[in-house]
Amino acid sequence: MSCKQRKVVIMGYRSVGKSSLSIQFVEGQFVDDYNPTIENTFTKRARFNSQDYELKVIDTAGQDEYSLITSQYGIDIHGYVLVYSVTSNKSFEVIKSLYAKLLDITGKVDLPIVLVGNKTDLHKQRAISPEQGRKLAEEWKAVFLETSAKHQEDVLDIFNVLLREIERTNGNLTERTNCAVS
Ligand code: GDP
Ligand code: MG
Repeated sequence: MSCKQRKVVIMGYRSVGKSSLSIQFVEGQFVDDYNPTIENTFTKRARFNSQDYELKVIDTAGQDEYSLITSQYGIDIHGYVLVYSVTSNKSFEVIKSLYAKLLDITGKVDLPIVLVGNKTDLHKQRAISPEQGRKLAEEWKAVFLETSAKHQEDVLDIFNVLLREIERTNGNLTERTNCAVS
């Protein structure tokens, strides 16, 4: 069966819900106390738009404005999920500096990116409005989504939309391979 392999990375400040979103996507459950220092790669087979994919999701241990973003995140990566928490101004600032660093190391301006504002279920703690997120994504020409990993809201959309963006941006890299059956 023809199947495309795609590798994406989830980045953002600590505690914004990167692991929760990854696990919600791959396992369909909310894990409340996932070790924040673990960097893990999840693999999931998915079918989007009549195409089979083997999607590798690299859940990073998190970054801040001082993090050195190495070429590890530039080579061999098809798309990026940049996550902030709608409850945290700091995480919104950190995502801006991460974006700038990613442009630097990849040397590209048209990266497939989904900007995600997570933790929408925490209504009372909201610090970043949907408009602020939408405006930032517009500047980046990225797609914007708000999610709740806890309530399983719009989590699958992240990866649907990212695969679409990857196909759009890397239209010339649509090689087909046989994914190993795992
Ligand atoms: P990471 O450091 O970015 O990987 O963040 P985690 O996924 O470990 O989540 C950090 C904390 O936020 C944990 O206590 C999670 O249970 C919590 N959390 C993650 N996503 C959500 C969400 O959508 N809503 C709420 N209320 N809490 C969340
Ligand atoms: Mg984590």
